[in-house]
Amino acid sequence: EQIIKEMEAQLKANGLEKEIKVVKTGCFGLCALGPIMIVYPEGAFYSRVKVEDVKEIVEEHLLKGRIVRRLLYDETVHEGTDNIKSLNEVQFYQKQMRIALRNCGVINPENIDEYIAFDGYRALGKVLTEMTPEQVIAEIKESGLRGRGGAGFSTGMKWQFTAQAKGDQKYVACNADEGDPGAFMDRSILEGDPHSIIEAMAIAAYAVGADQGYIYIRAEYPIAVQRLQIAIDQAKEYGLLGENILDTGFHFNLELRLGAGAFVCGEETALMTSIEGKRGEPRPRPPFPANKGLWAKPTLLNNVETYANICQIILKGADWFKSIGTEKSKGTKVFALGGKINNTGLVEIPMGTTLREIIEEIGGGIPNGKKFKAAQTGGPSGGCIPASLIDTPIDYDSLMAIGSMMGSGGLIVMDEDNCMVDIAKFFLEFTVDESCGKCTPCRVGTKRLYEILDKITKGQGTMEDLDRLEELCHSIKEGSLCGLGQTAPNPVLSTLRYFRDEYIAHVRDKK
Ligand code: SF4
Repeated sequence: EQIIKEMEAQLKANGLEKEIKVVKTGCFGLCALGPIMIVYPEGAFYSRVKVEDVKEIVEEHLLKGRIVRRLLYDETVHEGTDNIKSLNEVQFYQKQMRIALRNCGVINPENIDEYIAFDGYRALGKVLTEMTPEQVIAEIKESGLRGRGGAGFSTGMKWQFTAQAKGDQKYVACNADEGDPGAFMDRSILEGDPHSIIEAMAIAAYAVGADQGYIYIRAEYPIAVQRLQIAIDQAKEYGLLGENILDTGFHFNLELRLGAGAFVCGEETALMTSIEGKRGEPRPRPPFPANKGLWAKPTLLNNVETYANICQIILKGADWFKSIGTEKSKGTKVFALGGKINNTGLVEIPMGTTLREIIEEIGGGIPNGKKFKAAQTGGPSGGCIPASLIDTPIDYDSLMAIGSMMGSGGLIVMDEDNCMVDIAKFFLEFTVDESCGKCTPCRVGTKRLYEILDKITKGQGTMEDLDRLEELCHSIKEGSLCGLGQTAPNPVLSTLRYFRDEYIAHVRDKK
Protein backbone atom coordinates (compact mmCIF):
# COMPACT_ATOMS: atom_id res chain seq x y z
CA GLU A 1 0.00 0.00 0.00
CA GLN A 2 2.84 2.39 0.86
CA ILE A 3 4.59 1.66 -2.44
CA ILE A 4 1.39 2.34 -4.38
CA LYS A 5 0.84 5.59 -2.51
CA GLU A 6 4.41 6.68 -3.15
CA MET A 7 4.08 5.73 -6.83
CA GLU A 8 0.94 7.82 -7.20
CA ALA A 9 2.58 10.76 -5.44
CA GLN A 10 5.71 10.53 -7.64
CA LEU A 11 3.66 10.29 -10.83
CA LYS A 12 1.75 13.39 -9.80
CA ALA A 13 4.91 15.28 -8.89
CA ASN A 14 6.28 14.53 -12.38
CA GLY A 15 3.06 15.26 -14.26
CA LEU A 16 2.64 11.62 -15.33
CA GLU A 17 -0.57 10.78 -13.47
CA LYS A 18 -2.74 10.92 -16.60
CA GLU A 19 -0.31 9.01 -18.80
CA ILE A 20 0.58 6.12 -16.52
CA LYS A 21 -1.90 3.94 -14.70
CA VAL A 22 -1.06 2.17 -11.45
CA VAL A 23 -2.94 -1.11 -11.20
CA LYS A 24 -3.04 -2.92 -7.88
CA THR A 25 -3.29 -6.64 -8.66
CA GLY A 26 -3.43 -9.90 -6.76
CA CYS A 27 -0.48 -12.25 -6.25
CA PHE A 28 2.05 -12.89 -9.05
CA GLY A 29 3.07 -16.16 -7.45
CA LEU A 30 6.70 -15.38 -6.79
CA CYS A 31 6.26 -14.54 -3.13
CA ALA A 32 9.96 -14.90 -2.38
CA LEU A 33 10.66 -11.77 -4.44
CA GLY A 34 7.86 -9.51 -3.30
CA PRO A 35 6.82 -6.76 -3.36
CA ILE A 36 6.84 -7.00 -7.15
CA MET A 37 6.17 -4.26 -9.68
CA ILE A 38 5.95 -4.85 -13.42
CA VAL A 39 6.27 -1.87 -15.74
CA TYR A 40 4.58 -2.25 -19.12
CA PRO A 41 4.97 -2.24 -22.08
CA GLU A 42 8.60 -3.33 -21.47
CA GLY A 43 7.58 -5.92 -18.92
CA ALA A 44 10.36 -4.87 -16.55
CA PHE A 45 9.99 -7.15 -13.55
CA TYR A 46 11.12 -5.26 -10.47
CA SER A 47 11.47 -7.33 -7.34
CA ARG A 48 11.81 -6.59 -3.64
CA VAL A 49 10.78 -3.01 -4.31
CA LYS A 50 11.00 -0.62 -1.39
CA VAL A 51 9.25 2.70 -0.92
CA GLU A 52 12.57 4.51 -1.36
CA ASP A 53 13.07 2.83 -4.80
CA VAL A 54 9.93 4.36 -6.29
CA LYS A 55 11.44 7.81 -6.97
CA GLU A 56 14.26 6.20 -8.99
CA ILE A 57 11.84 4.03 -10.99
CA VAL A 58 9.81 7.11 -11.93
CA GLU A 59 12.76 9.42 -12.67
CA GLU A 60 14.93 6.87 -14.49
CA HIS A 61 12.54 4.40 -16.10
CA LEU A 62 9.34 6.36 -16.67
CA LEU A 63 10.89 9.73 -17.49
CA LYS A 64 14.16 8.76 -19.18
CA GLY A 65 13.35 5.25 -20.43
CA ARG A 66 16.32 3.75 -18.55
CA ILE A 67 15.53 0.51 -16.77
CA VAL A 68 16.63 0.38 -13.13
CA ARG A 69 18.78 -2.70 -13.49
CA ARG A 70 19.62 -3.11 -9.81
CA LEU A 71 15.95 -3.79 -9.09
CA LEU A 72 15.38 -6.09 -12.02
CA TYR A 73 14.86 -9.77 -11.24
CA ASP A 74 18.13 -11.32 -12.58
CA GLU A 75 16.47 -14.01 -14.58
CA THR A 76 14.47 -11.55 -16.63
CA VAL A 77 17.41 -10.31 -18.69
CA HIS A 78 18.75 -12.30 -21.64
CA GLU A 79 22.39 -13.03 -21.00
CA GLY A 80 24.72 -10.42 -22.41
CA THR A 81 21.93 -8.22 -23.72
CA ASP A 82 19.63 -5.52 -22.48
CA ASN A 83 16.52 -7.32 -23.69
CA ILE A 84 13.99 -8.19 -21.06
CA LYS A 85 12.40 -11.63 -21.17
CA SER A 86 8.66 -12.03 -21.11
CA LEU A 87 7.34 -13.63 -17.94
CA ASN A 88 6.73 -16.90 -19.78
CA GLU A 89 10.45 -17.13 -20.47
CA VAL A 90 11.43 -16.83 -16.82
CA GLN A 91 12.19 -20.24 -15.35
CA PHE A 92 9.72 -19.87 -12.50
CA TYR A 93 6.85 -19.47 -14.97
CA GLN A 94 8.15 -21.57 -17.89
CA LYS A 95 6.65 -24.90 -16.81
CA GLN A 96 3.54 -23.34 -15.34
CA MET A 97 0.15 -23.00 -16.92
CA ARG A 98 -2.15 -20.49 -15.32
CA ILE A 99 -5.84 -21.41 -15.61
CA ALA A 100 -7.12 -20.97 -12.06
CA LEU A 101 -4.60 -18.16 -11.47
CA ARG A 102 -5.09 -16.60 -14.92
CA ASN A 103 -6.07 -13.16 -13.67
CA CYS A 104 -3.97 -13.06 -10.50
CA GLY A 105 -1.25 -10.47 -10.93
CA VAL A 106 -2.96 -9.19 -14.07
CA ILE A 107 -6.15 -7.35 -13.16
CA ASN A 108 -7.29 -5.14 -10.33
CA PRO A 109 -9.52 -7.47 -8.31
CA GLU A 110 -11.59 -4.57 -7.06
CA ASN A 111 -12.60 -3.44 -10.53
CA ILE A 112 -15.29 -5.45 -12.31
CA ASP A 113 -14.57 -3.66 -15.61
CA GLU A 114 -11.06 -5.12 -15.67
CA TYR A 115 -12.47 -8.60 -15.05
CA ILE A 116 -14.97 -8.09 -17.87
CA ALA A 117 -12.19 -6.85 -20.17
CA PHE A 118 -10.49 -10.23 -19.64
CA ASP A 119 -13.55 -12.23 -20.77
CA GLY A 120 -15.23 -11.97 -17.37
CA TYR A 121 -18.93 -12.94 -17.19
CA ARG A 122 -18.82 -14.10 -20.82
CA ALA A 123 -19.12 -17.75 -19.66
CA LEU A 124 -22.20 -16.86 -17.59
CA GLY A 125 -23.68 -15.07 -20.60
CA LYS A 126 -22.98 -18.11 -22.73
CA VAL A 127 -24.64 -20.66 -20.42
CA LEU A 128 -27.69 -18.46 -19.78
CA THR A 129 -28.34 -17.73 -23.44
CA GLU A 130 -26.97 -20.71 -25.36
CA MET A 131 -26.93 -23.75 -23.07
CA THR A 132 -29.42 -25.82 -21.10
CA PRO A 133 -28.49 -26.85 -17.54
CA GLU A 134 -28.01 -30.42 -18.83
CA GLN A 135 -25.54 -29.21 -21.46
CA VAL A 136 -23.55 -27.30 -18.84
CA ILE A 137 -23.31 -30.41 -16.65
CA ALA A 138 -22.37 -32.56 -19.65
CA GLU A 139 -19.55 -30.14 -20.52
CA ILE A 140 -18.14 -30.14 -16.98
CA LYS A 141 -18.39 -33.95 -16.81
CA GLU A 142 -16.70 -34.31 -20.18
CA SER A 143 -13.85 -32.03 -19.12
CA GLY A 144 -12.76 -34.55 -16.47
CA LEU A 145 -12.43 -31.82 -13.81
CA ARG A 146 -12.04 -33.34 -10.33
CA GLY A 147 -12.54 -31.55 -7.01
CA ARG A 148 -9.43 -29.61 -6.03
CA GLY A 149 -10.24 -29.62 -2.32
CA GLY A 150 -8.56 -32.95 -1.68
CA ALA A 151 -10.77 -35.94 -2.39
CA GLY A 152 -10.67 -35.54 -6.19
CA PHE A 153 -14.27 -36.55 -6.88
CA SER A 154 -15.63 -35.82 -10.37
CA THR A 155 -17.05 -32.28 -10.35
CA GLY A 156 -19.50 -33.00 -13.18
CA MET A 157 -20.90 -36.02 -11.33
CA LYS A 158 -21.39 -33.94 -8.21
CA TRP A 159 -23.27 -31.34 -10.24
CA GLN A 160 -25.39 -34.06 -11.81
CA PHE A 161 -26.32 -35.63 -8.46
CA THR A 162 -27.42 -32.24 -7.12
CA ALA A 163 -29.37 -31.44 -10.28
CA GLN A 164 -31.17 -34.79 -10.10
CA ALA A 165 -31.97 -34.55 -6.37
CA LYS A 166 -35.57 -33.75 -5.50
CA GLY A 167 -36.17 -30.54 -3.59
CA ASP A 168 -38.19 -27.33 -3.69
CA GLN A 169 -35.07 -25.35 -2.77
CA LYS A 170 -31.43 -26.00 -3.70
CA TYR A 171 -28.20 -24.29 -2.74
CA VAL A 172 -24.68 -23.91 -4.05
CA ALA A 173 -21.81 -23.33 -1.66
CA CYS A 174 -18.12 -22.62 -1.89
CA ASN A 175 -15.61 -24.00 0.56
CA ALA A 176 -13.12 -21.19 1.17
CA ASP A 177 -12.13 -22.44 4.62
CA GLU A 178 -8.55 -23.14 3.66
CA GLY A 179 -6.87 -24.24 6.87
CA ASP A 180 -3.93 -26.54 6.06
CA PRO A 181 -0.67 -25.22 7.48
CA GLY A 182 1.36 -23.82 4.57
CA ALA A 183 -1.56 -23.58 2.10
CA PHE A 184 -2.63 -20.24 0.62
CA MET A 185 -3.90 -21.09 -2.87
CA ASP A 186 -7.55 -20.28 -2.29
CA ARG A 187 -6.68 -17.09 -0.51
CA SER A 188 -4.67 -15.87 -3.51
CA ILE A 189 -7.43 -16.71 -5.96
CA LEU A 190 -10.01 -14.88 -3.85
CA GLU A 191 -7.74 -11.90 -3.31
CA GLY A 192 -6.62 -11.74 -6.93
CA ASP A 193 -9.71 -12.76 -8.90
CA PRO A 194 -12.88 -12.84 -6.77
CA HIS A 195 -15.26 -12.40 -9.71
CA SER A 196 -14.14 -15.71 -11.25
CA ILE A 197 -15.59 -17.55 -8.23
CA ILE A 198 -18.82 -15.54 -8.23
CA GLU A 199 -19.32 -16.17 -11.94
CA ALA A 200 -18.59 -19.90 -11.60
CA MET A 201 -21.02 -20.21 -8.69
CA ALA A 202 -23.75 -18.53 -10.74
CA ILE A 203 -23.08 -21.03 -13.55
CA ALA A 204 -23.24 -23.92 -11.07
CA ALA A 205 -26.49 -22.57 -9.62
CA TYR A 206 -28.01 -22.43 -13.10
CA ALA A 207 -26.84 -25.99 -13.82
CA VAL A 208 -28.22 -27.57 -10.63
CA GLY A 209 -31.32 -25.40 -10.21
CA ALA A 210 -30.29 -23.32 -7.20
CA ASP A 211 -31.07 -19.68 -6.54
CA GLN A 212 -29.07 -19.07 -3.39
CA GLY A 213 -25.36 -19.47 -2.74
CA TYR A 214 -22.97 -19.14 0.19
CA ILE A 215 -19.23 -18.67 0.29
CA TYR A 216 -17.88 -20.01 3.56
CA ILE A 217 -14.62 -18.19 4.14
CA ARG A 218 -12.15 -17.96 6.98
CA ALA A 219 -12.35 -14.76 8.97
CA GLU A 220 -8.53 -14.90 9.06
CA TYR A 221 -8.54 -13.81 5.39
CA PRO A 222 -9.74 -10.21 5.81
CA ILE A 223 -8.50 -8.98 2.41
CA ALA A 224 -10.20 -11.87 0.61
CA VAL A 225 -13.42 -11.21 2.54
CA GLN A 226 -13.30 -7.52 1.69
CA ARG A 227 -12.59 -8.08 -2.01
CA LEU A 228 -15.28 -10.74 -2.30
CA GLN A 229 -17.83 -8.39 -0.78
CA ILE A 230 -16.79 -5.60 -3.15
CA ALA A 231 -17.07 -8.04 -6.08
CA ILE A 232 -20.52 -9.26 -4.97
CA ASP A 233 -21.76 -5.67 -4.68
CA GLN A 234 -20.37 -4.78 -8.11
CA ALA A 235 -21.90 -7.88 -9.73
CA LYS A 236 -25.28 -6.94 -8.24
CA GLU A 237 -24.93 -3.41 -9.54
CA TYR A 238 -24.19 -4.76 -13.04
CA GLY A 239 -27.20 -7.10 -12.94
CA LEU A 240 -24.99 -10.21 -12.81
CA LEU A 241 -26.30 -11.32 -9.42
CA GLY A 242 -29.82 -11.01 -8.04
CA GLU A 243 -33.14 -11.13 -9.86
CA ASN A 244 -33.61 -11.84 -13.56
CA ILE A 245 -29.91 -11.95 -14.44
CA LEU A 246 -29.18 -10.64 -17.98
CA ASP A 247 -32.97 -10.61 -18.56
CA THR A 248 -33.02 -14.40 -18.77
CA GLY A 249 -35.39 -15.02 -15.85
CA PHE A 250 -32.59 -16.66 -13.83
CA HIS A 251 -32.26 -15.54 -10.19
CA PHE A 252 -29.21 -16.04 -8.03
CA ASN A 253 -28.19 -14.45 -4.74
CA LEU A 254 -24.85 -14.90 -3.07
CA GLU A 255 -23.80 -14.25 0.52
CA LEU A 256 -20.64 -14.61 2.57
CA ARG A 257 -20.46 -16.62 5.77
CA LEU A 258 -17.37 -16.20 7.94
CA GLY A 259 -15.78 -19.13 9.73
CA ALA A 260 -14.58 -18.77 13.29
CA GLY A 261 -11.24 -20.50 12.89
CA ALA A 262 -12.04 -24.21 13.32
CA PHE A 263 -10.06 -26.40 10.90
CA VAL A 264 -12.78 -29.07 10.96
CA CYS A 265 -15.21 -26.65 9.32
CA GLY A 266 -13.36 -27.33 6.05
CA GLU A 267 -15.03 -30.78 6.17
CA GLU A 268 -18.17 -30.52 4.10
CA THR A 269 -20.82 -31.57 6.63
CA ALA A 270 -19.25 -29.46 9.39
CA LEU A 271 -19.04 -26.51 7.01
CA MET A 272 -22.73 -26.70 6.22
CA THR A 273 -23.70 -27.08 9.87
CA SER A 274 -21.66 -23.96 10.55
CA ILE A 275 -23.38 -22.02 7.73
CA GLU A 276 -26.69 -22.96 9.36
CA GLY A 277 -25.45 -21.14 12.47
CA LYS A 278 -24.78 -24.22 14.58
CA ARG A 279 -21.60 -25.58 16.12
CA GLY A 280 -19.46 -26.83 13.21
CA GLU A 281 -19.29 -30.58 13.78
CA PRO A 282 -19.21 -33.29 11.10
CA ARG A 283 -22.07 -35.72 10.73
CA PRO A 284 -22.07 -39.19 9.16
CA ARG A 285 -22.54 -39.55 5.40
CA PRO A 286 -24.81 -40.64 3.70
CA PRO A 287 -26.93 -38.65 3.28
CA PHE A 288 -24.55 -36.71 1.05
CA PRO A 289 -24.94 -32.94 0.58
CA ALA A 290 -26.22 -33.47 -2.97
CA ASN A 291 -29.37 -34.93 -1.37
CA LYS A 292 -29.42 -33.40 2.09
CA GLY A 293 -27.10 -30.48 2.59
CA LEU A 294 -27.87 -27.01 3.90
CA TRP A 295 -31.12 -27.03 5.89
CA ALA A 296 -31.60 -30.64 4.62
CA LYS A 297 -31.97 -29.38 1.03
CA PRO A 298 -29.88 -30.54 -1.97
CA THR A 299 -26.62 -28.60 -1.93
CA LEU A 300 -23.65 -28.41 -4.26
CA LEU A 301 -20.36 -27.77 -2.52
CA ASN A 302 -17.09 -27.18 -4.37
CA ASN A 303 -13.89 -25.53 -3.25
CA VAL A 304 -12.41 -22.27 -4.53
CA GLU A 305 -9.90 -23.74 -6.99
CA THR A 306 -12.50 -26.08 -8.49
CA TYR A 307 -14.77 -23.12 -9.22
CA ALA A 308 -11.80 -21.14 -10.60
CA ASN A 309 -11.60 -23.60 -13.53
CA ILE A 310 -15.29 -23.52 -14.51
CA CYS A 311 -15.49 -20.36 -16.65
CA GLN A 312 -12.49 -21.37 -18.77
CA ILE A 313 -14.00 -24.81 -19.40
CA ILE A 314 -17.25 -23.21 -20.55
CA LEU A 315 -15.45 -20.71 -22.80
CA LYS A 316 -12.72 -22.96 -24.23
CA GLY A 317 -14.57 -26.27 -24.12
CA ALA A 318 -14.13 -29.65 -22.42
CA ASP A 319 -11.80 -30.89 -25.17
CA TRP A 320 -9.34 -28.09 -24.51
CA PHE A 321 -9.36 -28.79 -20.75
CA LYS A 322 -8.98 -32.53 -21.05
CA SER A 323 -6.04 -32.12 -23.41
CA ILE A 324 -4.10 -30.85 -20.36
CA GLY A 325 -2.87 -33.23 -17.66
CA THR A 326 -2.80 -37.01 -17.38
CA GLU A 327 -5.30 -39.69 -18.30
CA LYS A 328 -7.21 -39.58 -15.02
CA SER A 329 -6.23 -36.15 -13.69
CA LYS A 330 -7.11 -33.39 -16.12
CA GLY A 331 -6.14 -29.74 -16.08
CA THR A 332 -3.77 -28.03 -13.68
CA LYS A 333 -3.21 -27.88 -9.94
CA VAL A 334 -2.17 -24.91 -7.85
CA PHE A 335 0.41 -25.53 -5.14
CA ALA A 336 1.64 -23.31 -2.35
CA LEU A 337 5.35 -24.01 -2.44
CA GLY A 338 7.03 -23.45 0.91
CA GLY A 339 9.73 -24.67 3.26
CA LYS A 340 13.35 -25.19 2.21
CA ILE A 341 13.08 -23.99 -1.36
CA ASN A 342 14.48 -20.93 -3.12
CA ASN A 343 11.36 -19.73 -4.93
CA THR A 344 8.65 -19.94 -2.32
CA GLY A 345 5.32 -18.95 -3.77
CA LEU A 346 2.29 -20.02 -5.67
CA VAL A 347 2.64 -22.26 -8.70
CA GLU A 348 0.11 -23.73 -11.10
CA ILE A 349 1.30 -26.75 -13.06
CA PRO A 350 -0.31 -29.13 -15.53
CA MET A 351 -1.14 -32.44 -13.81
CA GLY A 352 1.59 -34.95 -14.49
CA THR A 353 4.46 -32.49 -13.91
CA THR A 354 7.03 -34.28 -11.77
CA LEU A 355 8.03 -33.30 -8.29
CA ARG A 356 11.57 -32.85 -9.61
CA GLU A 357 10.41 -30.24 -12.13
CA ILE A 358 8.59 -28.36 -9.39
CA ILE A 359 11.48 -28.42 -6.95
CA GLU A 360 14.48 -28.02 -9.21
CA GLU A 361 13.15 -25.93 -12.08
CA ILE A 362 10.17 -23.92 -10.83
CA GLY A 363 11.30 -23.79 -7.21
CA GLY A 364 14.91 -23.08 -8.10
CA GLY A 365 16.28 -25.86 -5.85
CA ILE A 366 17.18 -26.03 -2.18
CA PRO A 367 18.90 -23.04 -0.54
CA ASN A 368 22.50 -23.12 0.75
CA GLY A 369 23.51 -26.10 -1.37
CA LYS A 370 21.65 -28.54 0.89
CA LYS A 371 20.20 -31.82 -0.33
CA PHE A 372 16.51 -32.37 -0.96
CA LYS A 373 15.13 -34.86 1.54
CA ALA A 374 11.35 -34.97 1.22
CA ALA A 375 8.24 -33.03 0.25
CA GLN A 376 5.02 -33.02 2.21
CA THR A 377 1.84 -32.72 0.17
CA GLY A 378 -1.69 -32.45 1.42
CA GLY A 379 -0.91 -30.80 4.75
CA PRO A 380 -1.94 -32.66 7.90
CA SER A 381 -3.90 -35.20 5.83
CA GLY A 382 -1.09 -35.90 3.40
CA GLY A 383 2.17 -37.71 3.45
CA CYS A 384 5.86 -37.23 2.83
CA ILE A 385 7.41 -38.05 -0.52
CA PRO A 386 11.08 -39.06 -0.15
CA ALA A 387 13.88 -37.95 -2.49
CA SER A 388 13.94 -41.42 -4.09
CA LEU A 389 10.46 -40.71 -5.51
CA ILE A 390 11.26 -37.23 -6.82
CA ASP A 391 10.31 -38.29 -10.36
CA THR A 392 6.75 -39.11 -9.35
CA PRO A 393 4.26 -37.30 -11.59
CA ILE A 394 1.93 -35.11 -9.58
CA ASP A 395 -1.62 -36.35 -10.06
CA TYR A 396 -4.32 -37.74 -7.78
CA ASP A 397 -3.60 -41.42 -8.37
CA SER A 398 0.22 -41.35 -8.40
CA LEU A 399 0.26 -39.52 -5.07
CA MET A 400 -2.22 -41.95 -3.51
CA ALA A 401 -0.14 -44.88 -4.75
CA ILE A 402 2.91 -43.69 -2.79
CA GLY A 403 0.95 -43.04 0.41
CA SER A 404 0.51 -39.29 0.03
CA MET A 405 -2.36 -37.28 -1.39
CA MET A 406 -2.95 -34.16 -3.43
CA GLY A 407 -4.89 -32.53 -0.61
CA SER A 408 -5.78 -28.96 -1.22
CA GLY A 409 -2.28 -28.06 -2.47
CA GLY A 410 0.22 -27.30 0.28
CA LEU A 411 3.70 -28.44 -0.79
CA ILE A 412 6.34 -28.14 1.89
CA VAL A 413 9.92 -28.96 0.99
CA MET A 414 12.40 -30.38 3.49
CA ASP A 415 16.16 -30.63 3.30
CA GLU A 416 18.75 -32.91 4.89
CA ASP A 417 18.60 -30.99 8.19
CA ASN A 418 14.94 -31.76 8.85
CA CYS A 419 14.04 -34.58 11.23
CA MET A 420 11.11 -36.47 9.74
CA VAL A 421 9.84 -37.61 13.13
CA ASP A 422 9.62 -33.96 14.13
CA ILE A 423 7.67 -33.25 10.95
CA ALA A 424 5.16 -36.01 11.71
CA LYS A 425 4.88 -34.70 15.27
CA PHE A 426 4.28 -31.15 14.03
CA PHE A 427 1.34 -32.19 11.85
CA LEU A 428 -0.08 -34.41 14.55
CA GLU A 429 0.07 -31.63 17.10
CA PHE A 430 -2.04 -29.64 14.66
CA THR A 431 -4.68 -32.36 14.28
CA VAL A 432 -4.83 -33.01 18.02
CA ASP A 433 -5.53 -29.34 18.46
CA GLU A 434 -8.14 -29.22 15.71
CA SER A 435 -10.00 -32.49 16.41
CA CYS A 436 -13.57 -31.49 17.19
CA GLY A 437 -13.86 -34.22 19.80
CA LYS A 438 -17.05 -35.79 18.53
CA CYS A 439 -15.67 -39.31 18.07
CA THR A 440 -13.29 -41.25 20.29
CA PRO A 441 -10.77 -42.70 17.78
CA CYS A 442 -9.82 -39.22 16.65
CA ARG A 443 -10.21 -37.33 19.93
CA VAL A 444 -8.28 -39.81 22.08
CA GLY A 445 -6.34 -41.70 19.41
CA THR A 446 -4.53 -38.72 17.93
CA LYS A 447 -3.58 -37.53 21.40
CA ARG A 448 -2.08 -40.94 22.25
CA LEU A 449 -0.25 -40.94 18.91
CA TYR A 450 1.20 -37.56 19.72
CA GLU A 451 2.34 -38.72 23.15
CA ILE A 452 4.19 -41.70 21.66
CA LEU A 453 5.86 -39.44 19.07
CA ASP A 454 6.82 -36.99 21.78
CA LYS A 455 8.39 -39.80 23.79
CA ILE A 456 10.35 -40.98 20.76
CA THR A 457 11.67 -37.50 19.92
CA LYS A 458 12.81 -37.09 23.54
CA GLY A 459 14.86 -40.27 23.29
CA GLN A 460 12.53 -42.19 25.61
CA GLY A 461 10.88 -44.43 23.00
CA THR A 462 11.17 -48.20 22.55
CA MET A 463 10.97 -50.45 19.51
CA GLU A 464 7.55 -51.61 20.72
CA ASP A 465 6.41 -47.99 20.47
CA LEU A 466 6.99 -48.11 16.72
CA ASP A 467 4.64 -51.10 16.36
CA ARG A 468 2.12 -49.43 18.66
CA LEU A 469 2.28 -46.27 16.54
CA GLU A 470 1.46 -48.19 13.38
CA GLU A 471 -1.37 -50.15 14.98
CA LEU A 472 -2.91 -47.03 16.43
CA CYS A 473 -2.65 -45.22 13.09
CA HIS A 474 -4.73 -47.94 11.42
CA SER A 475 -7.35 -47.94 14.20
CA ILE A 476 -7.75 -44.16 13.93
CA LYS A 477 -8.04 -44.29 10.15
CA GLU A 478 -10.71 -46.97 10.28
CA GLY A 479 -12.69 -45.74 13.26
CA SER A 480 -12.90 -41.96 12.80
CA LEU A 481 -16.09 -40.32 11.65
CA CYS A 482 -14.78 -37.66 9.27
CA GLY A 483 -11.88 -36.96 6.96
CA LEU A 484 -9.90 -35.14 9.63
CA GLY A 485 -9.51 -38.24 11.79
CA GLN A 486 -9.37 -40.66 8.86
CA THR A 487 -6.36 -38.89 7.37
CA ALA A 488 -4.67 -37.58 10.55
CA PRO A 489 -2.27 -40.57 10.79
CA ASN A 490 -1.01 -40.15 7.20
CA PRO A 491 2.07 -38.05 8.07
CA VAL A 492 3.07 -40.67 10.67
CA LEU A 493 2.42 -43.64 8.37
CA SER A 494 4.30 -42.15 5.42
CA THR A 495 7.32 -41.14 7.50
CA LEU A 496 7.34 -44.60 9.11
CA ARG A 497 7.25 -46.09 5.63
CA TYR A 498 10.04 -44.04 4.11
CA PHE A 499 12.08 -42.82 7.09
CA ARG A 500 11.80 -45.66 9.61
CA ASP A 501 15.55 -45.44 10.15
CA GLU A 502 15.09 -42.00 11.71
CA TYR A 503 12.54 -43.35 14.20
CA ILE A 504 14.92 -46.23 15.00
CA ALA A 505 17.84 -43.82 15.42
CA HIS A 506 15.85 -41.84 18.03
CA VAL A 507 15.08 -45.05 19.94
CA ARG A 508 18.56 -46.54 19.61
CA ASP A 509 20.59 -43.39 20.32
CA LYS A 510 18.18 -42.23 23.05
CA LYS A 511 17.95 -38.71 21.64
FE1 SF4 B 1 -14.42 -34.67 15.04
FE2 SF4 B 1 -12.12 -36.00 14.58
FE3 SF4 B 1 -14.37 -37.34 14.74
FE4 SF4 B 1 -13.93 -35.71 12.64
S1 SF4 B 1 -12.83 -37.58 13.14
S2 SF4 B 1 -15.83 -35.92 13.83
S3 SF4 B 1 -12.76 -34.08 13.67
S4 SF4 B 1 -13.43 -36.13 16.40
